[in-house]
Amino acid sequence: AVKTVDDNYFGSYSSFGIHREMLGDKVRTDAYRDALLANPSLLSRATVLDVGCGTGILSLFAAKAGASRVVAVDGSAKMASVATQVAKNNGLLYDENVKAEQKQGAQVISVVHTKAEELNKKIQVPQNDFDVLVSEWMGYCLLYESMLSSVLYARDHFLKPGGAILPDTATILGAGFGKGGTSLPFWENVYGFDMSCIGKEVTSTSARFPVVDVVASQDIVTETAVLHSFDLATMKESEMDFTSSFELRLRDSSTVVPGVTWCYGIVLWFDTGFTERFCKEKPVVLSTSPFSTPTHWSQTIFTFEEPIAMVKEESTIASSALVGTDGCPATIFRSRISIVRASEHRSIDISVETTAFSSDG
Ligand code: SAH
Repeated sequence: AVKTVDDNYFGSYSSFGIHREMLGDKVRTDAYRDALLANPSLLSRATVLDVGCGTGILSLFAAKAGASRVVAVDGSAKMASVATQVAKNNGLLYDENVKAEQKQGAQVISVVHTKAEELNKKIQVPQNDFDVLVSEWMGYCLLYESMLSSVLYARDHFLKPGGAILPDTATILGAGFGKGGTSLPFWENVYGFDMSCIGKEVTSTSARFPVVDVVASQDIVTETAVLHSFDLATMKESEMDFTSSFELRLRDSSTVVPGVTWCYGIVLWFDTGFTERFCKEKPVVLSTSPFSTPTHWSQTIFTFEEPIAMVKEESTIASSALVGTDGCPATIFRSRISIVRASEHRSIDISVETTAFSSDG
């Protein structure tokens, strides 16, 4: 048989290791659990569509939260059958042969093996009929291999007008990091020997493509900038390709030593919000920031070819009147990051351009 991109994609989700990793990511799974279980005005008696159910964990939460009906879909045959078994073993699977009066309260989950885009071909699903759509679709750097376009399709075809989408916001953020965010310090002193030539080669290689790894908060040397915010209740698929221009200035922090601070690159991450728009009782934020507990997404690191020297602004005058002369180290630097989907694949191309400024201009 010829393997298509889809076969490979769903095949990769059938190995239990990645589901173990996602379920074991407590920051991630707690956020969804809290959003589903602590917002009874949203979930109680609601009809819920779980896009990309995997093991079915989000459907199990929804059923526990008092949903009246949960339809869980997954494009992987293996995961759809596993989710069915799990829902059954936990007494939460819908069984049309059981009479309504004999049903235990939460036997509400049906699992369908289908891509979300083809749900209508598989079973009779009324158009725009679900109260809530829940999905964990986020990839590295939010959009890498993300299934967001499938979620937007499901939103537009199966969610009620004004229905809730969980999460309902997603934001890509970034900041500059110092030497500690690279492997240079490690190679500078290996059992007392200088192996910095290796460190230099490693950083110049990693300057060519993004690397997924954790950056410690103390290695962040600039303020945080918002690159892009998505409103998942209203955004169009075309918004997934975007270019963002932003400025980074030195972080006002005691961890940044006075004098020149070297910025070695930019680290990107994302937050998703289950906001009070739909989660009235308990809004939740799922953050993958270097300032929060690490998640399985870590952060995404872009190392510069050459680090940028930055100095603190001497005074607190407005940013439009930054001091500095040509040749001085930068007080700020500007960056343009473009995120564009590679056609057919779920991967993305990210390009980063950076300019250092010693004065406003
Ligand atoms: N909801 C689960 C699994 C998330 S992983 C959890 O939170 O743990 C994403 C899942 O979505 C995978 O199991 C993958 O097979 C499935 N998936 C990806 N794209 C899909 C699509 N277009 N339609 C249906 N399922 C999809």
